[in-house]
Amino acid sequence: MKIKTVIVGLLQTNCYIIEDEVSAKCAVIDPGGNFDRISEALEGRMPEYIILTHGHFDHLLAAARLQRETGAKVLVHKLDEGMMQEKYVKNSGYFRGNFDAPKADGYLTDGMTIELGQLKLTVLNTPGHSKGSCVIICGDCIFSGDTLFYESWGRCDLDGGDDNEMLQSLRRIGKLDGEYTVYPGHGESTLLSHERQYNYLMRAAIL
Ligand SMILES: [Zn+2]
Repeated sequence: MKIKTVIVGLLQTNCYIIEDEVSAKCAVIDPGGNFDRISEALEGRMPEYIILTHGHFDHLLAAARLQRETGAKVLVHKLDEGMMQEKYVKNSGYFRGNFDAPKADGYLTDGMTIELGQLKLTVLNTPGHSKGSCVIICGDCIFSGDTLFYESWGRCDLDGGDDNEMLQSLRRIGKLDGEYTVYPGHGESTLLSHERQYNYLMRAAIL
């Protein structure tokens, strides 16, 4: 798998372009803004999927245009679908520009597998930051959205957030067998072994 990171938007969201090197099929995870830069990074390729780790606007501001211009299917967890609506985003008060709402073409569900050429992407629903937050596992990589960050985790005080669910979700991720590279929604990537040891909440969760 090839991974390209494009840092987008005011909140410096990590947008990941992942590609199966065998079939050259690709997908975009969390196109949070800067459509032109994402488009440039795609180098003319048409993604099969736009995968949203959760429904917060800073992870999907470029999703609708990308969906229109490439025909990629937008996948999001049903419980976060309502957060992608213009009314919700405007009411949240965090974003005041013109909001171009993407439409879900399909839903992420816990345990489902998405095939991207030869790659298999496994979805875990990991609530805590939002009800529909998901992490995507592909080989030895985890795209963790705003659930797990380098030595940290996503805030639980927003709509749909829940401390206890976050603890359970970090426990579930921390208990996965083996080593993974973690690609979070914001900030630098990390190793799961590092987080098991130095992430305060994950460490507490897996004790
Ligand atoms: Zn978020």
